[in-house]
Amino acid sequence: MKAAVLSGPGRMEIRDVDDPVMEKDEILIKLKSCGICTLEQRLFTGAMKLHYPLVGGHEAAGEIVEVGKAVIGSFSPGTKVALDLVTRCGECYYCRIGKSNLCSNRFNPGQRMLGGFAEFIAAKPNQVYALPTGLSFDEAAFTEPLSCCVHSLKRLKVAMTEDLLIVGAGVMGLLHLLVARCMGLRTTVCDPDASRLEIARALGADFTVNPRTTDLSSFGRENTDGLGWSSCVIASPAPEALKEAVASLAKCARLNIYTAYEGEMTVPIDATAIHRQELTVTGTEGRLSEDFFQAARLLSFGKVKVDALISGRTSFSTIEQGFREAISGHAFRIILNHEAP
Ligand SMILES: [Zn+2]
Ligand SMILES: [Zn+2]
Repeated sequence: MKAAVLSGPGRMEIRDVDDPVMEKDEILIKLKSCGICTLEQRLFTGAMKLHYPLVGGHEAAGEIVEVGKAVIGSFSPGTKVALDLVTRCGECYYCRIGKSNLCSNRFNPGQRMLGGFAEFIAAKPNQVYALPTGLSFDEAAFTEPLSCCVHSLKRLKVAMTEDLLIVGAGVMGLLHLLVARCMGLRTTVCDPDASRLEIARALGADFTVNPRTTDLSSFGRENTDGLGWSSCVIASPAPEALKEAVASLAKCARLNIYTAYEGEMTVPIDATAIHRQELTVTGTEGRLSEDFFQAARLLSFGKVKVDALISGRTSFSTIEQGFREAISGHAFRIILNHEAP
């Protein structure tokens, strides 16, 4: 089968590789769409290293072609599916305490990982989530990033009608917005890019604010009945964004650091403020299977519409250009269409 193989930083090759071997308890999927996520972008640039050669891609959707004889459950060929391609061992400490997103063995050598930039993939039934036919494969490829936002907002323990500040109107910030709207939150999206704020408004943000031209803290108080935001997601790696957000929080607010930073980043928080205002600062990484299931249902029910976040499509023959576009910082999601010429 065809696969986009990363053979070193910045080196992507389209190779003919062995078809995946499907075990009896597995499902074989023909892939149709896969988003080029930040993880793959970092692997491509070399900012993050796993091992080479590597077939990236973890925001994948496709169609079931074969179901192993030992698979229990109602999977059948032809079903449209989204795939959770982070393999979890199920046996380590973190898997056993219900934090399989932090599985100790997920990146072990020899472990099957990622693989969405290939024509076929074999997966365990618990990695396969059925979706309705009405949803496009490109939309289905958003199940994974959406599930990370579901996880992030759950970590914030948001309550209906609360005021949420989303810092960063990139694709992840805007996916947080879509989920937050389903949860009945009043949302503010903060970003220095006016065109992104316009998209945030089109996607239903209650307020948008440019922190370069408006004082975030005053804006927050003005639009939250004088309280400040009671919950906040940091979906931008700009250090000043975190600092300004922390200064705009209400008492007993929660703040979740969703983004990763380049290098080390000290949290600019006044410890006395954490004490006096009972602030909670958390981080999230990835998602649990429950989050993935709920993200699949949000898409299935038509509760979230992700079309506006598809900035472009690429094919195997143009994937390197697709990566460069994704890395440019101007795009939301660039999606590989496996069958495109
Ligand atoms: Zn992703
Ligand atoms: Zn584990």
